[in-house]
Amino acid sequence: MTSSRKSLDTSDILHLEADVLVIGGGPSGAWSALSAAENGAKVVLVDKGYLGTSGTTAPSNTGTWCVAPGEDRAQIVERRWQRTGGLADPRWMLRCVDRAYENLLKLVEWGYPFPSDDDGKLYIANLRGPDYMAFMRRRVLLAGVTVLDHHPALELFSDGQAVSGAAGVDRQRGRDWRVDANAVVLATGGCAFHERILGATGLTGDGYLMAAEAGAILSGMEFTGKYTLAPHGSSLNKGLPFRWASFHREDGTAIMNSDGEPLMNGIGEREKEIARAMIEAPVYAVLDQAEPALQDWLRQGQPNCFVPYNRMGIDPFKEMFRVTFKAEGTVRGTGGIRVAGSDCATDVPGLYVAGDAASRENMTGSTSGGGAVNSSWAIASGWWSGQGASHYAKRNASRGAFRAVSKPLGEAGLRPAGSVKSGLTAKDVISSVQAEVLPLDKNYFRDGNRLEASREKLDGLWNDVRHHLAGEGPERLPAREAASIAAAGRWSLNAALARQESRGMHRRADFKATDQAFTRAVLVSGVDDIRIEAAPVENRRERA
Ligand SMILES: Cc1cc2nc3c(=O)[nH]c(=O)nc-3n(C[C@H](O)[C@H](O)[C@H](O)COP(=O)(O)OP(=O)(O)OC[C@H]3O[C@@H](n4cnc5c(N)ncnc54)[C@H](O)[C@@H]3O)c2cc1C
Repeated sequence: MTSSRKSLDTSDILHLEADVLVIGGGPSGAWSALSAAENGAKVVLVDKGYLGTSGTTAPSNTGTWCVAPGEDRAQIVERRWQRTGGLADPRWMLRCVDRAYENLLKLVEWGYPFPSDDDGKLYIANLRGPDYMAFMRRRVLLAGVTVLDHHPALELFSDGQAVSGAAGVDRQRGRDWRVDANAVVLATGGCAFHERILGATGLTGDGYLMAAEAGAILSGMEFTGKYTLAPHGSSLNKGLPFRWASFHREDGTAIMNSDGEPLMNGIGEREKEIARAMIEAPVYAVLDQAEPALQDWLRQGQPNCFVPYNRMGIDPFKEMFRVTFKAEGTVRGTGGIRVAGSDCATDVPGLYVAGDAASRENMTGSTSGGGAVNSSWAIASGWWSGQGASHYAKRNASRGAFRAVSKPLGEAGLRPAGSVKSGLTAKDVISSVQAEVLPLDKNYFRDGNRLEASREKLDGLWNDVRHHLAGEGPERLPAREAASIAAAGRWSLNAALARQESRGMHRRADFKATDQAFTRAVLVSGVDDIRIEAAPVENRRERA
């Protein structure tokens, strides 16, 4: 490979060249940058925050789907496939566990401090988010990757044939940056619709909008109905402790389940009943089903989970506290940019995708990949996308002339079709989207009429966004984030309307049953005019 990092002009714009540009510095971006660099590519990684602390893995304790090679691997995959609503693809699941396992072993080889048991056997199925991401940062820098922290990407560039780079803003210096690259990997995470959840402040679906503007297809965007319990008023959406909760009204009366017994276990099959009870009136929980030994384990294993209770000055194992359901969009939902090739290529030449920016339907179908699968997918898809992008860059290295004809693709929130309206703020746009996609009675429990009404509202909002929303200088970022959130909301609603059945986290009151005719993917594309298409997934299992 011939390209090298160099400044192209003397203006106050940072202008670099690379073989591969990785946008996003969570685990998937870090693995992608590492594998591209290992393939000899010159790599630049830009992150909206700081590679090592931003994204949803960094503040969490992350369980991986860690399955050692062996005869029972296929059975383990088969058992999980049974829980995916028939939309996952066991071939992808198998290759993901394989790749993720190999990479976990790389971490061992590189000296990542996994804990071990009394016999010295390493436990590699869990990664402590802060340690893991700090470790990945060191590896990425060691591999010679140029890391630009606090450099959010605002838009992609294209030479008319392929994606040719991206541009954005350096938040700390207030200047613009542009990277010309032979291939780009989007590792921008999911879209949490600006709900306050752990590590998700910057997860506004920017990658989806950038990709769609370049012509990419999204898939599974209807699977955004994943919610997790949290203490009311906190952003701590860690569901595990609620496994041992009982649920009550403010006066202490136990809430009964549909069998007339006290409602327990907030992450089990009764979750729907808790959601229903919460729509009627505030719900309170107490973690009184946890034995003392389990209480100690929870306190030690998930120390950050107890911060809100410490702040409230209560013992959550004995005292009631109000709870809320946090919407998680596509973070622990499933939708994202369609993966069109085994190397995580998208439908757009030169554009690759990894982690939560990608649709995880192949891995998790209509269910959530949080808790294990998503982090293994971030590792594996990161690795594949880095390889795919570096090979693409190598094949197209002679296309250097593209730089002269490259054009920016960003429109919504950046280049409005009309005059900017000062009254239309990014904050207002986000609140309007949230009003349609966060409430339990609209998005947890869905219904055709309500979805249609929400779609109409967001179509109207989109019209305003496209014509009148923009910011100046660094203020382009919030405007662009608001546009991305609005776009993701529209794709989600359109896909949810198209899937006229209930499956996994897509619950339609007007189509309560799962309909085998819908054992297919719902694809969405287009930014202003949204197109919907069904893609067959039949016989995936037979072909495994
Ligand atoms: C509370 C919580 C707990 C979880 N626990 C688990 C678990 O135990 N097991 C599991 O499998 N999964 C878990 N998940 C899911 C898991 O965290 C994600 O699947 C994983 O972090 C995805 O990695 P990623 O690199 O794709 O995205 P992220 O880790 O979210 O990183 C995305 C990165 O992209 C950057 N970015 C965004 N937009 C831009 C832009 N425009 N320009 C530049 N950079 C940008 C962000 O700053 C961020 O650094 C959990 C999620 C949450 C919310």
